[in-house]
This record gives sequence, C-alpha cells and structure tokens, in this order.
Amino acid sequence: LLTKAPRGTRDILFDEATKWVYLESEFRKICGDFGYDEIRTPIFEHTELFQRGVGETTDIVEKEMYTFYDKGNRSITLKPEGTASVVRAYLEHNMYALPQPVKLYYIIPGFRYERPQAGRLREFHQFGVEAFGTADADMDAEIISLSMMFLERLGLKNLELRINSIGCPNCRKTYRQVLTTFLKDRQVNLCNTCKIRLDKNPLRVLDCKDKNCKNTVKDAPMLLDHLCEECLIHFEKLKNRLDQLNLDYKVDPTIVRGLDYYTRTVFEVLSGELGAQNTLCGGGRYDGLVEECGGNPTPGIGFAMGIERLLLTMTGQGITFPRKPSLSVFIVTVGDEASSEGFKLLTELRKSGISADKDYLSRSLKSQMKHAGKFNANYTVIIGEEEIKTGVFTVKNMFSGEQLKLSKNQLIKTLKQGQGEEA
Ligand code: ATP
Ligand code: MG
Repeated sequence: LLTKAPRGTRDILFDEATKWVYLESEFRKICGDFGYDEIRTPIFEHTELFQRGVGETTDIVEKEMYTFYDKGNRSITLKPEGTASVVRAYLEHNMYALPQPVKLYYIIPGFRYERPQAGRLREFHQFGVEAFGTADADMDAEIISLSMMFLERLGLKNLELRINSIGCPNCRKTYRQVLTTFLKDRQVNLCNTCKIRLDKNPLRVLDCKDKNCKNTVKDAPMLLDHLCEECLIHFEKLKNRLDQLNLDYKVDPTIVRGLDYYTRTVFEVLSGELGAQNTLCGGGRYDGLVEECGGNPTPGIGFAMGIERLLLTMTGQGITFPRKPSLSVFIVTVGDEASSEGFKLLTELRKSGISADKDYLSRSLKSQMKHAGKFNANYTVIIGEEEIKTGVFTVKNMFSGEQLKLSKNQLIKTLKQGQGEEA
C-alpha cells in the first residue's frame, strides 16, 4: 500500500512531465489568443452543486463521485468535472456585472470512480473553457474552433468532429413523449438503471453504455428531427459558421452527452487512436444551467478535453514534443577550495539566469565529467588549484569538445549569448 499509488491514479514523471508543461503552455497560449482568462476553482465543492449542476440521473452523480463527509459533517465531493464549479463561481462573484460574454478557461484534475482502463482513470485531467452571456451561434462556432485549432497546432490529424443539437426544453417536451412511447414498448430490453431512468429522464437512456440499451436505442426517434423553429435556426447558423471556418464535421444525431445540463449544440472530437475511449473532447451549450444553480437565466457554452487522452492520441500519431532545454553548465571541481569556489560560481550563474548544476557526491574528476555528460550540459567548467590562483576557468564545450580559458565575467557573458542563440 505504501509503495503503490491508488488504483486509477498515476504519477507524471520526468519526460512525461515535460510534455504536460508543454501542453499546458500551448493551451494557455491559445486561450489567450481567443480572449479567455484563467479561472482556478477548488478541488472540492459541496456535493449539492454537482447533484444540481451535473444532474441526479447522470452516470457521474449516480455512481462515479468521490463523496465524503468532512469533520464538520458537510457532504463534500471531489470535482468530477469543471463546469459546475465555474458556474458556481460566476454566481458567487456576480459575474453578470462584468461585460458579457465572460470567457474563462481552466486546467483541472477530475475525479470519477470508474473502472480504470486505457484512457480512463479515477484521477484524470482536463483542459476546459466556458463562455457565459450569449446564446449566439457564433460563440458555439468559436468554442468548437478553439478546440480544433488547439489540436491542429499540436500537430494532430485525422480527428473527427461530430455535432448535434439536442434542442431546448420546449422541443424536448414533445420529443420526450415520443421517445418514452418508443422505449416503453421495448422496456424488457433495457438495463435496470434505464428502466428507472425511463420515467425520470428518458433522454439519459440514449447515452447508456450497456450493450442491450445501445442496441435498443439504435432505431429510436432522434431529437434532431423534433427541433423547434428557433433551435433549427441556431443549428443552421452554427453549421454555416463551421463551413466558413473550413472545419470538417459530421452531424451525428446520436450524440446526447452524458451530462444533464446541455441544450442545443453538443459536440465531440473523436480520435481513432483511442480505441474504446475514443472521445478526446466533449462539449456543448448549457443555457439552463446558471438558472438551475440558482442564478438569473444566462446562456453558456463550453468544452472539456481529457489531457491523458490527448497525450495518448499524440503518441499514437507519432507526434514529437519539444525537448526539455538542456542544462547550460555543469561545474566540475578538484579539491576542497575549488569545491567552495565552484559553489560560489554556481550561485552566480543561477542568479544571472543561467541553468547550472554541480556534483554533490564528492565524485572523482573523471566520474564528475561522466556525470556532466549524463546531464546533457552544454558546457563544463573545470575548477582546480590553477584556476583558483589565476581566476581563469577552463570551460569545455561539450558538443565541439573545444576548451576555452575564461574569467568569471567572460564566462557569464558567453553563456548569456549562447542562451540567446539556442532559444
Ligand atoms: P466518456 O464517454 O469517455 O465516459 P464522458 O462523456 O464521461 O466521457 P465528459 O464528462 O464530457 O466525458 O468529459 C470530457 C472529457 O474528459 C472526455 O472526453 C475525456 O477526454 C475526459 N475524461 C472523462 N472522464 C475521464 C476519465 N475517467 N479518465 C480520463 N479521461 C476522462
Ligand atoms: Mg464517462
């Protein structure tokens, strides 16, 4: 137990951590380009927020949440997704008062008690964006294009964008009846959860992962065929915009998304590299959510993208990542006095913004040199008796093998120039 991380969680180490830093900085960059600000919300929230915001009859709330009582006897839940918290923050900080739309992005861990497998963890991570305060289909197009442009910038290919409209409560009222009739006739084929859902939330049945349920709903009537006039116009406008942006998409009337709060546009980005867990990114419009959480009616739309699945897809497509910048200087010393001089130089280099390191295990000269090689350092500075006497260091370029004699100031100047060239 002490030497193994809990099931469904994992450490992100060394080279992989470098990849994460790169993805995070690319995500921050594109969100900046689109005018989104970062929001950081707590890891846990009141359980009620997710019951209300995600929906009582969703998989997440029914069986996946990490819920516990804290010492003050409050029911607390580790965030299973990001949107509900952002909505809560929107209300708490009265963001209606800000110029609309309010456009936010986040990078979060999410927690869901699921069966761990490739692309499915109990602690996973998401990039997400949310835009509040406009129902205009232009915003739907912006959100979708942000996700696609991000993936394109990373070098991904062959992704499939699927869109659908699941209408508004108005169109859903009629559709719900049509669907309920259809499902009641085939009730025996549904899983037990769905038999209960049938009365509470028949739409949820369309999203069930049970094989028999999937089979049963294959021929079910589609919401897309029951949209009201306004929802149809909204969907047409979105499709026009996506055409203008030259984004390839497929209208997929079976996408309903696993969360209760969606209205009108829903979309998914799929990747063939992911196998069974092939949804890389999912999102949609949630015009009723702010009100559902106790606020004034405020339209909103967003998406969330799984970072682990993003990495799996990139690896699957053989995409290379920028390398971690190599260490500029490794300091090699011989003798106590040199060691103290070396430590002084180390600190000065670091103060000047030059990356530097040294031996900490009192290694021999030869093995210090070998160690410097393992660090992939660009230069090795050698300090011995001679160097201390003259104040001139021996500097070895580890790539060309060339040796220079430089004073401390010359050394710092050379390295700073070198840094500029490498960047
Ligand atoms: P799935 O269909 O895979 O269950 P979902 O509909 O539950 O996904 P969302 O709640 O929309 O997913 O979350 C958005 C994205 O977050 C997913 O597309 C996926 O990339 C990622 N994600 C969700 N749950 C997990 C998980 N348990 N492990 C890893 N990534 C996840
Ligand atoms: Mg899920």
